[in-house]
Amino acid sequence: MKIRIDKDACVGNARCAAISEVLFQLDDEGYIAVSEIDVPEGMEELARRGARSCPEKIIEIIEE
Ligand code: SF4
Repeated sequence: MKIRIDKDACVGNARCAAISEVLFQLDDEGYIAVSEIDVPEGMEELARRGARSCPEKIIEIIEE
């Protein structure tokens, strides 16, 4: 599973990081720091929850 994030559209409310700081790393200003994430095994549900938590709907889950 992968996560793709439309980084430029992030509004920096850190909802995703509240679900998992490990998966959804923020920069110093609180915006998402990465645009593509390989989801480690066992973290798939956190990834899905993080995607659902984003009010901007810019986190896309790519099931492989
Ligand atoms: S929840 Fe969405 S808008 Fe908020 S920091 Fe994460 S990616 Fe950005």
